[in-house]
Amino acid sequence: METGQKSQPQTFDLVAGNVCLDFINTLDDRFSDHPKELLATYGDLVRFGVESRVIGSKQASQVVRRAHAAKDQGRAVLRKAIKLREALHGVFSAVAGHRRAEARSLSALNEFIQESAAHTRLVEKSESFQWQMDSTSSLETVVWAIARAAGELLASAQLQYVRMCSSPTCRWFFLDTSKGHQRRWCDMKLCGNREKARKFYKKRKNESA
Ligand SMILES: [Zn+2]
Repeated sequence: METGQKSQPQTFDLVAGNVCLDFINTLDDRFSDHPKELLATYGDLVRFGVESRVIGSKQASQVVRRAHAAKDQGRAVLRKAIKLREALHGVFSAVAGHRRAEARSLSALNEFIQESAAHTRLVEKSESFQWQMDSTSSLETVVWAIARAAGELLASAQLQYVRMCSSPTCRWFFLDTSKGHQRRWCDMKLCGNREKARKFYKKRKNESA
């Protein structure tokens, strides 16, 4: 049925269970010889924000239009976003490896968190309060939302469930909210099955040797 409205297919594999971890995963195959940059343009960053639901689609078209008119600004925000991602990678790698975070990564992240806080305020809903960005039309909204999510996760009890995928080439981050907290793969369909197949063929090879 033609509704006149194109619904775009999902671009990003959001398997992490937290937006800031999904964001780190946007440099795909990070530890292979050919890392794949999934955030090639400012538009990619906004699409990530829409699919992760940190920005609404109406607001997204607004900022994409503005970035189109001021290409340098869009590019500068993309560079900032990548800087945030790499700071997050530094801090969360240390978390997953039970090490202390490097001061450099943590202070870079703190700069983003302070900036994000400067644009965040509380608004009253019916019987509760909610965080809201005060300048939702800024090109940096997605970056601020991700920084805030990262700060919330780092200061929460959920932090102990941050994991890296067991596949050595993948190493995607995810939050292990499974019952026994024994999840090993970013996605069973992707990395889990690949590992099972690898073990199966290895076993068969050994048996036939
Ligand atoms: Zn994986």
